[in-house]
Amino acid sequence: MTERLQKALNEQITAELWSANLYLSMSFYLKREGYDGFAHWMEKQYHEEVNHAIAIAHYMINRNAIPKIEKLDVVPQSWGNPQEAFEDAYKHERHVSQLIDLLVKVASEEKDNATQDFLWRFVREQVEEEASTLNIVEKMRKAGEAGILFLDAQLGKRA
Ligand code: MG
Repeated sequence: MTERLQKALNEQITAELWSANLYLSMSFYLKREGYDGFAHWMEKQYHEEVNHAIAIAHYMINRNAIPKIEKLDVVPQSWGNPQEAFEDAYKHERHVSQLIDLLVKVASEEKDNATQDFLWRFVREQVEEEASTLNIVEKMRKAGEAGILFLDAQLGKRA
């Protein structure tokens, strides 16, 4: 694997871990505010992002490349209300989709077919991530106070 592609994959590991921290921070905020279901959903999201970082690292090791954990920037700690947190999550997922697209471009330019193939899973995953966060934001926009509490209970069921 080329140095340039290794560097790009390592930047993505850092981005996935930063995403994980962002969602864990959202989870803490939501729990503090008494929204146990939303907090649970965000905690699941945290684990998912950590797993993305691990998947990239394991792939790199399989390719005899060296995964690295770089220094992570701080994440926000508080939001105005649950809707703002989920709107931020949706915005962040759109940003991550752009990062993945750039990564596919680098893999293509470096003529690394295996990495392109590996990354398609992430391209598909981002479609799901954007859809699920936007779906929650849309429901929150329509919900009144009682609706928010109903939604909180629903999201608490995420497996
Ligand atoms: Mg991710």
